[in-house]
Amino acid sequence: MSNKENDRNLEIKTPEGYLPVVKPEVFETKQGLVYLQSPGIAVISVPSVDLRGIQGFLDGFPEELGFSDFLKDPTPLPSAETLCKFAGQLCYESFGPNRTVNEYAVKYFENIMESGHGSVLEHANVTMLWWGISRSLTHELVRHRAGFGFSQVSQRYVGGKTLRFVERPEYAGDPYLHKLFEDRIDRAQQEYEAMTDYLVAKQKEGAEILGAEHKTDLRKKVRQAARSLLPNETEAPVVVTANIRAWRHFLNMRGSEHAETEIRRAAFESYRCLSRIAPLLFGDFKVVHLHDGTHGLSTPFPKV
Ligand SMILES: Cc1cc2nc3c(=O)[nH]c(=O)nc-3n(C[C@H](O)[C@H](O)[C@H](O)COP(=O)(O)OP(=O)(O)OC[C@H]3O[C@@H](n4cnc5c(N)ncnc54)[C@H](O)[C@@H]3O)c2cc1C
Repeated sequence: MSNKENDRNLEIKTPEGYLPVVKPEVFETKQGLVYLQSPGIAVISVPSVDLRGIQGFLDGFPEELGFSDFLKDPTPLPSAETLCKFAGQLCYESFGPNRTVNEYAVKYFENIMESGHGSVLEHANVTMLWWGISRSLTHELVRHRAGFGFSQVSQRYVGGKTLRFVERPEYAGDPYLHKLFEDRIDRAQQEYEAMTDYLVAKQKEGAEILGAEHKTDLRKKVRQAARSLLPNETEAPVVVTANIRAWRHFLNMRGSEHAETEIRRAAFESYRCLSRIAPLLFGDFKVVHLHDGTHGLSTPFPKV
């Protein structure tokens, strides 16, 4: 991937009041089949925090502890930091005047990272839509179990009209490989259509290739049989929700230079989004410039 191409992709569009979006270009083969060359990421949900309800809890402690003034901290924090800091301070009932005030929240979260007290980061969740990513990428993504939730496009329920593909950077940068890619996905789409047409026709003739209950869920049965010929480079949009601790672990694993190129790129773009939303919770990550012009991530606190 050239630096120019990479730079274009790193642009995060953040119109006033909107959550971060990384918008990839959409391409078409000569036959009009759509494909993408880089991941799209839209942050669609971040924590919504309102601590006013805790005032009654604070007021119930002896007045000399000074807990009642906890909410009068003049320094606002982003929502994820507000939530995680409150959760962490609850652990030690650090609500009095000697607590770490928001002005020193950077130091507070450094202590959390250093001491590995990562459970407080599990309270804040961030949801993103990822598109322009291949089925190979999502196969790796869904291996992340702890703290993650996924909703991925179903190849059993969604058929040929929305089929799109993802070109790897290695192919996009080489005219011969690029042509092979375009020819291959055109062929894959045609074979998919031909297979679904054949299966539908045979079932209607009563051949029962798909089993005896073909009258119910015929389309689903046709697609679940036909999808097996689709390549790994088929696009597989997914909604991903994870808490901050889980995102950090993901960035550490998949932002590594040893991670597969496509998922590393998606991890890097996610990091760009996450560090906008919760700068103090991802501030320890450093961008690593790799030999091939791409980027990786590293942190001194890999296991929080
Ligand atoms: C560079 C690279 C190469 C890889 N190569 C391969 C490969 O060749 N083959 C392959 O199959 N996979 C491979 N993987 C996937 C890898 O093995 C993990 O499945 C994936 O990275 C998810 O990591 P995780 O289990 O730490 O994450 P999560 O599932 O999110 O778990 C987070 C953490 O929670 C804890 N945890 C989660 N579940 C359990 C549990 N059941 N018991 C105890 N503790 C738990 C662990 O501390 C874990 O690190 C590779 C990953 C990378 C980054």
